Amino acid sequence: MKTLRELTRPNIWNLKPYSCARNEYDGVDASVFLDANENPYNNPINRYPDPLQKELKERIAAYKDVSPEQIFLGNGSDEAIDLVYRAFCEPGIDNVVAIDPTYGMYQVAADINNVEYRKVLLDSNYQFSAQHLLDAADDRTKMIFICSPNNPTGNEMDGREILKLIEQFDGIVILDEAYNDFSLRPSMLASLSDYSNLIVLQTFSKAWAGAAIRLGMAFASPEIIEILTKIKYPYNVNLLTQQKALEILDRKEEQKEWVASILKERENLADALLQLPVVEKIYPTDANFFLVKVIDADRIYKYLVAKGIIVRNRNTVSLCGNCLRITVGTPAENQTLVGALKVFQL
Ligand SMILES: *Cc1c(COP(=O)(O)O)cnc(C)c1O
Repeated sequence: MKTLRELTRPNIWNLKPYSCARNEYDGVDASVFLDANENPYNNPINRYPDPLQKELKERIAAYKDVSPEQIFLGNGSDEAIDLVYRAFCEPGIDNVVAIDPTYGMYQVAADINNVEYRKVLLDSNYQFSAQHLLDAADDRTKMIFICSPNNPTGNEMDGREILKLIEQFDGIVILDEAYNDFSLRPSMLASLSDYSNLIVLQTFSKAWAGAAIRLGMAFASPEIIEILTKIKYPYNVNLLTQQKALEILDRKEEQKEWVASILKERENLADALLQLPVVEKIYPTDANFFLVKVIDADRIYKYLVAKGIIVRNRNTVSLCGNCLRITVGTPAENQTLVGALKVFQL
């Protein structure tokens, strides 16, 4: 791997971050806060939240068995995705490589930051070859994005290829594990300390059922986390989100039950869909959704919308012709979908 200094944009490496009021005093147990021009009334939301989210990071660290210094928290995973471009990629000069198809935000963030985005098509089993990704990289490639389980295909990427990529790429590998809690495969977090060029993304939006609070997690070496922390907005995770996340973490047993019933319902839904004449194929999935190949995705999508049922039409996405991406809902929601598709006229 190149050194972190070689991978980081020089202006970011040399940046002196904004020092906010809540950062400057340290350690003392203060009780009179006249430092941040806050309003003394309307407690508790009158006060700026903890810019470093210490309590929440400690809880997540204990839960995930990593150290708090290995955690960055952001306004959804999307914030971390944007920040890695801003930290490592010189606009108009550096580039990134990613599998295709995959989560659309990697490319949107590349476009916003004027960074060349190089796509490498998956094979017919929706798998990638580490060698093909490395072949697409050059001396200006700072990051490679892998999503596993992948969105929109639903499947885990081959673990050996992921390891090969991390071991052989001299830049940063970003592994998006947004759907890992639905998969039997253990998270790569267990080996985080072995790889100084690995960033693992996870989120409160899926298995933790907290999409509305906007909380994403990036796990990496303390040195990478320090860079992301230096360039984030000082108060990027608001107080209500920090509080709610602590509450959600207390509901671990419930979370396990949600995941178990979604997985059980995923099988029921797949069985029901396979009976339908409009369904050609259901792709293997390790997530809470699946990609379904149908007779005419555009027509079926519009038909379902007219019935108030919204799925994701992936017809124009690479390797996903005539595919709908269907999230597993409650048994009642899934039944509504299947009922509507049963009476669809070909
Ligand atoms: C849903 C999803 C996320 C979550 O994004 P948030 O901004 O945390 O809500 C991240 N990555 C992938 C691939 C996703 O599908």
